[in-house]
Amino acid sequence: MKQAGKKAALIGALVSLVVSGSALAEMCYDRSVQGHRLVVDSHLHFQPFSGPHLNHQVLVEYLQRAGIQYANVYGIGQTRIEDWACLNGGDCSGNTVIAPTMKNDFVNGVNMNAYPRTAVQLRASMTFPDLQNPEGIVDRMAILDREFPGLFQWMGEANLVKQALFSYGHEAATLEDIANWAPFMAKLAERNMPLALHSDMGNDEDDYGYVHLMEAVLEQYPDNTVVWMHLGTSREQDDLDPAEHVAEMSRLMDAHPNLWFDISWNVLYDGYFRDANRRGPYVEFLNQYASRILTGTDVVASSYTSYNDYLRALEQNSFINQYLDKRAFRYIALGQSYFDLLDIDDVAPPVC
Ligand SMILES: [Zn+2]
Repeated sequence: MKQAGKKAALIGALVSLVVSGSALAEMCYDRSVQGHRLVVDSHLHFQPFSGPHLNHQVLVEYLQRAGIQYANVYGIGQTRIEDWACLNGGDCSGNTVIAPTMKNDFVNGVNMNAYPRTAVQLRASMTFPDLQNPEGIVDRMAILDREFPGLFQWMGEANLVKQALFSYGHEAATLEDIANWAPFMAKLAERNMPLALHSDMGNDEDDYGYVHLMEAVLEQYPDNTVVWMHLGTSREQDDLDPAEHVAEMSRLMDAHPNLWFDISWNVLYDGYFRDANRRGPYVEFLNQYASRILTGTDVVASSYTSYNDYLRALEQNSFINQYLDKRAFRYIALGQSYFDLLDIDDVAPPVC
């Protein structure tokens, strides 16, 4: 009897092994049927530049409806302070200053704790750091950790240099500023927290004029994972030569193993990816470095953001995925890079 039971158990195990084996083969991701939309939105701003934010649960419902499985919860690294005065009936006629604040992170933290169980797995990001004035960053990290234990696992999107904000009082971080990042960079490295940086490579007059700033970061902090947003592009720079741009990024990727790139934002779609004459080098680059590439929509959600707004951004930012090889598609669109970076116990399916 005992022997027969063992035998039955063995047969059962064998049967389930065979079944799961064939199930695994069937479980491969079929792009021709399932499409090429990204499923991990690693670059999503839950807080707007100004005005009321979109209800947290409504945005999470958008994500769920659009098939998103994981998302990073960013605030926004530049808040229009004066607008709050306008909205509250105060005087907002003075200079418009844009500056990072901790307000976003508190709002996101409160919302995430209020609705901890969602179908979409969320990870909170500290968006407050002012990289030009890094002195208080470690203390503020501690405040968020005390207020929201274990919640924040990411830092950014923070601005190393963002020319779009120059007329609002923002300046590029200097080499001296970067040297002063050491205390918070040590904390980030200690807890394996990626730092996502917006940093313009240059502009149409000087293609790579700001690259030395990012290089200073990478050279001084080799133990930190740095995610360079938007492949370093911006609205101020939509005329990079793709082959040159890719050569520059490849050089940096090869020299700095903890450097990652993010391909979110429709600037990339508008200026580079949708143009068949410009797309080629980027596809090659993404295929080659797929395991250190992250994707997302870069939607900056406000109370006016509709589901269709989100969907449009999702479609545009997913466009490039259809040209990726199977391996790169799995790493980028299906999230394997993201899982690896954050040590998430999940596995993207193989691509058929
Ligand atoms: Zn962004």
